[in-house]
Amino acid sequence: MTPNCLVCGAETRHRFDAVVEGFALFACDDCGSARTWPALDGRQIAAWYPQAYYGNRNVRFNPLFERMTRWFRRRRVGVIRRLTKPGAVLDVGCGRGFTLRFLADAGYRSTGVELSADAAAHARDVLGIDIRTGDFLSQSFEAGQFDVVIFWHSLEHVADPLAALNRAAEILKPGGLLVVAVPNLSSIQARLAGREWFHLDVPRHYVHFSARGLKRALRDRHFRIVDTAHFSFEQNPYGWIQSILNRVFAHDLLYSILKEPAARAHRIREYPLQTIATSIAGVLLLPVAMILMTIETLLRRGGTIEVYARKEAS
Ligand SMILES: [Zn+2]
Repeated sequence: MTPNCLVCGAETRHRFDAVVEGFALFACDDCGSARTWPALDGRQIAAWYPQAYYGNRNVRFNPLFERMTRWFRRRRVGVIRRLTKPGAVLDVGCGRGFTLRFLADAGYRSTGVELSADAAAHARDVLGIDIRTGDFLSQSFEAGQFDVVIFWHSLEHVADPLAALNRAAEILKPGGLLVVAVPNLSSIQARLAGREWFHLDVPRHYVHFSARGLKRALRDRHFRIVDTAHFSFEQNPYGWIQSILNRVFAHDLLYSILKEPAARAHRIREYPLQTIATSIAGVLLLPVAMILMTIETLLRRGGTIEVYARKEAS
């Protein structure tokens, strides 16, 4: 028996075995999305989020990338600011809370939900944001409480994404803005890289949305799509670089090197020569990745997408 599509409910079929042993991708012909199989339950998946995933003492990357991360968050807030007036905003899977801090500085009332107690503590204690620690679906929010709900690379980490979208529709005001950023399985980089695609991130990603599948799921829930962005300087050039490197070097090696020292130490010890080679290759691939990003953006087949949608006034 094959599992049903998490996005549209249709039957799926085996597409390929994942790089991570014991998992496979099951794809849906109907909406073009896929799911990770088997799907781990809440207790099992926790083991796949070691402390290093969030960083050591809440520093996730090397200093340059940490600065860039903050710059990207500010840009993200600028986009939301253009589409909405300041109001109540919920960031589901808010991580360390930078986006919410910048939104609060722009006049929004910021609330976050975060599974990681450490990341939540950073958002709460260091940034002063109102954070609920735990699972989104078990939080008690009121119907129509929020003007903006954000899933920024978090919806694919949810075991039941449709339940999460239903809940988002419930707690948004009519006319409220839903922001969903996810990897795009129908992108050129996903198609070409196959099981080596950087953004698969199995088994942490339960679902792998196609752009079509995600938009259909939103329309079915009475959202009107306002904009779909296929350009992401933050995500898409790196998706190309790491996917190409994955063909030659140990899986996601460069990515672990770019993290902060505690997270990268054991991988460098494991692959000393590959570490040097992948670092040089990564730099050399940068201009190539910029060209590929430009092409995928023009063809509207970006490696990750941002979908902005409004809840219809019913
Ligand atoms: Zn489907």
